[in-house]
Amino acid sequence: GNANLYALLASGFPADRSQIAIETPDQNYSWNDIEQMSARLANLLLALDLPSGARVAVQVEKSPTALMLYLATVRAGLVYLPLNTAYKAAEVEYFLTDAEPSVVVCDSRNLEWITQLADKTGTAHVYTLDDDGSGSLAVAAASQGDQFESVPRQTDDLAAILYTSGTTGRSKGAMLTHGNLSSNAQVLHRYWGWRADDVLLHMLPIFHVHGLFVASHGALLAGARMIWLPKLNIDQAIHYLPLSTIMMGVPTYYVRLLADQRFNREVCRNIRLFISGSAPLLKETFNAFVERSGHTILERYGMSETIMLTSNPYDPAVGQRIGGTVGQALPGVSVRVVDDAAAPLAPGQVGNVQVRGPNVFKGYWRMPEKTREEFTQDGWFRTGDVGQWGGDGVPDNYLTIVGRSKDLIISGGYNVYPKEIELVIDEMPGVDESAVIGVPHPEFGEAVVAVVVPRAGHTIDIKSLEAALKSRLANFKIPKRIHVVDQLVRNTMGKVQKNVLREQYKDL
Ligand code: ATP
Ligand code: MG
Repeated sequence: GNANLYALLASGFPADRSQIAIETPDQNYSWNDIEQMSARLANLLLALDLPSGARVAVQVEKSPTALMLYLATVRAGLVYLPLNTAYKAAEVEYFLTDAEPSVVVCDSRNLEWITQLADKTGTAHVYTLDDDGSGSLAVAAASQGDQFESVPRQTDDLAAILYTSGTTGRSKGAMLTHGNLSSNAQVLHRYWGWRADDVLLHMLPIFHVHGLFVASHGALLAGARMIWLPKLNIDQAIHYLPLSTIMMGVPTYYVRLLADQRFNREVCRNIRLFISGSAPLLKETFNAFVERSGHTILERYGMSETIMLTSNPYDPAVGQRIGGTVGQALPGVSVRVVDDAAAPLAPGQVGNVQVRGPNVFKGYWRMPEKTREEFTQDGWFRTGDVGQWGGDGVPDNYLTIVGRSKDLIISGGYNVYPKEIELVIDEMPGVDESAVIGVPHPEFGEAVVAVVVPRAGHTIDIKSLEAALKSRLANFKIPKRIHVVDQLVRNTMGKVQKNVLREQYKDL
């Protein structure tokens, strides 16, 4: 058979293709529309006669047409390369130079500088696509046929290159195959109990794993309708939640819903599943959400290189959803926690999270050396995340992410896990959230520094916070400095940018 991802997704479309597949505030798209629009775009791409493995780089605002363009690229057997809409010229230049795409699709507002870059980097074809679906791409596709037979692809062939979020350093291109994406889509389909009568409230960006793969594939493979919004807008969310059965979000979405008094049980009456990921969900948010909505958020864990790895259970027969954990290894995915000598650690012990499975990527684009470094000799991928099984009354088969190995602080020869200190600080009165980082220190190598955000209407007394920490933590874990700020710097996926904080507070 054909291992093209699109063939799998289309196998889940409803027999009646006239049903609504995508709903936006001003227009509906049927399953026929998805097939025909993506066929036209696929015909257009095929007509460009590109070499096999050619990349199609896309930096456009979220729209149904942008999703069709993704599907078209997959159908045509080419490699989809989405770019964060926030990236400016200098950043886009890096990605175009690195990925050497044959096609770039951009917002018409950026056409001038993108064309200049494309000339510089040798990209042959530039099209525009605006958030209303208009632009030169639509014009060129209009004359193409609306039938398309998905180009045969093998499991191991590339379907997409996803650049990582750049939280710990320069973004790397993760090469994902048709097999990676298909296997993960099928596993999540079963594990989260996707149904044809589900309605997904889709408010995530589609340049990232979460919105593009986890959310969209879920709905497409189930033949379920999506309510498609460009981003989280609280008024729209409150309007559409009662019409939805599933919502996915990054933790900040849940924080923002809770901050709105209109968000209550009534608004969630038809929801069967709230899913969170991409960044840690605070236990406090998890608990407040149960209280307000009656729903237990399901937190899961994954990354650009692997798509989804672990999930809290959907089915209560499998287990409870436990706040602060990322749940159990997904079926078919192996997860281990090991020390620096690769010896497995017992539950409660903190170590390196390593993974294997059909979902694990092929390697970093044009970085063979880096790829070799990040896989062990016996084929496990080093996630760069630090975690533990069980511990603290949590069952042994539940994983907790403690942080990233790059954020580990070594102060005076002691390992300090920022998360441990953040959890203590966050419990202090008047504290909303915190980030703990290491900064260079002449004597200790690194010194612990805390950046703390007060709750609205509260002030933080640094002296008493320090005293409280001293009564609860060993001396080497006590922050040498505590900075109070209005908010933590986060990227679009809600990840706290500790590299930015380290730079900002490096001078003690
Ligand atoms: P870069 O690799 O460029 O530094 P990044 O790792 O942030 O950036 P992504 O692939 O988008 O790029 O993010 C994956 C990371 O997000 C994981 O390695 C993990 O650190 C974090 N993450 C994802 N889900 C969760 C979660 N539920 N809890 C805690 N962390 C999570
Ligand atoms: Mg990463």
